[in-house]
Amino acid sequence: MEQHQLATAVALGSGHFKRFIFRIVFARHGLIALRQGIAVDHYINIQAVLSGLVGLIWVSALYLFDTGTIDQNLSIRLMMLLGALGFTISSMAIFKRVFIAYLSCLVIPMLSYLMTHDYLHQWHALLPSFIIYSTLIALVSYRTNQQIYAAALDQVQVATLTEKLQQALTAERQVRDELAIRADTDEITGIYNRRGLIKHLNLELARCKRFPRSAAALMIDIDHFKKINDTHGHTVGDLVLIKVVDLIRQQLRDTDVFGRFGGEEFLLILPMMEKPGALIAAERIRKFIEANPIQLQQQSIQITISTGVAIYHSPDSMDELITRADHALYTAKNNGRNRVALERHELMQNT
Ligand code: GH3
Ligand code: MG
Ligand code: MG
Repeated sequence: MEQHQLATAVALGSGHFKRFIFRIVFARHGLIALRQGIAVDHYINIQAVLSGLVGLIWVSALYLFDTGTIDQNLSIRLMMLLGALGFTISSMAIFKRVFIAYLSCLVIPMLSYLMTHDYLHQWHALLPSFIIYSTLIALVSYRTNQQIYAAALDQVQVATLTEKLQQALTAERQVRDELAIRADTDEITGIYNRRGLIKHLNLELARCKRFPRSAAALMIDIDHFKKINDTHGHTVGDLVLIKVVDLIRQQLRDTDVFGRFGGEEFLLILPMMEKPGALIAAERIRKFIEANPIQLQQQSIQITISTGVAIYHSPDSMDELITRADHALYTAKNNGRNRVALERHELMQNT
């Protein structure tokens, strides 16, 4: 049910008794406060205090008249006024607390007063009307309280569920983000895997076509890696892969895209890079690897890499670029390894 429908339903309730105009006005007021998240307690307490005060003044008026302080006319007018006021508040007092305040301040002292003073000989004649009146108001109060608290409970439950839903959605988003990252990441080295590389390469080539600009693709392969595996075992082979990746990363810029293309072969994409710059970068990396043997378990493993360089020119396809870089890599391998080769067999001399 919509909140405003709920509010109206509670305010109007059912039966003639509850349709009393003051009740509607006051109940609506309380419910609007509830709907806006303001504590209804404050509102109920004010009503309870008012009811209690009216009850007390009513009883005081009775006492003043009885002791002769005020005359009959005044006391009757006062009591009628206060009685009407008390009745109004208590009948529109939709909350148990208000009713109890009214009852304890008016009905109980008055009944006790009547019972203990010989003021009204026929006091017991009033008893049934007090009982009926009190019971009716108690029922109204009870019913309204139930509705009010059900509405409040609904609101709390909705808020709790909304919060839980938000938490679940956040957790789900985190898992999805993590999965997406994992799907693009190589498990051993932590850099992009082939899937991640292809994604970024596509993006970079789209930029090259759009602006237009160039990009370089470097296919890097560890020389004689099989021998490392055969000599030191696969675990050491894995550690060597990690160390080589670390070394290469030290030579990269933030905008470079680096990933494991497969096995001991890596692809490096250098955005906005022409032939001279690409060759300088490739040579710098090659020298850096050569100059930094990998230290593992108190042994030093000398690593070298061969690199094939290809430059992208629109409208080449991605496959063409990779194939050209691959061919260049073969050239570097065939020419003795530990060197950089440019596509179309333009070989850099190993210095
Ligand atoms: P080349 O200089 O011609 O590149 O010789 P290579 O021995 O490096 O090349 P080859 O293709 O003959 O062997 C590649 C080896 O890389 C074989 C394979 O077992 C190893 N390899 C591939 N992936 C992994 C890996 O994830 N971990 C380890 N330890 N070895 C791997
Ligand atoms: Mg190799
Ligand atoms: Mg290889």
